[in-house]
Amino acid sequence: MGLRHAGADVSWQDRAICTGTHPDFFHPQRGEGPEVKRAQEICETCPVIAECREYALTYREPFGVWGGLSQRQREKEWKARAHGGTTLDNLDREGQRRAS
Ligand code: SF4
Repeated sequence: MGLRHAGADVSWQDRAICTGTHPDFFHPQRGEGPEVKRAQEICETCPVIAECREYALTYREPFGVWGGLSQRQREKEWKARAHGGTTLDNLDREGQRRAS
């Protein structure tokens, strides 16, 4: 995290619980391996997960875990949004199930 796009509201990053975490932790190799899952578990406890997720989706962050979404999950969401849909309802239900 820490990338900034001109004009983007990034004030939410002040409340991010990953601030100070080594960048590699949230930018593991592409895929859905255990490193991604560990980062996603932290995201699920973060108070700015919604803001972080929308930022990454809006600015098409290509790498790493943002707002609990892996690269692959963001790519699926971009495709779904291009057709007026979303994948996030299912993802949120999965996250709630994991957290309970
Ligand atoms: S949702 Fe995850 S990547 Fe985003 S700020 Fe929170 S901990 Fe960091």
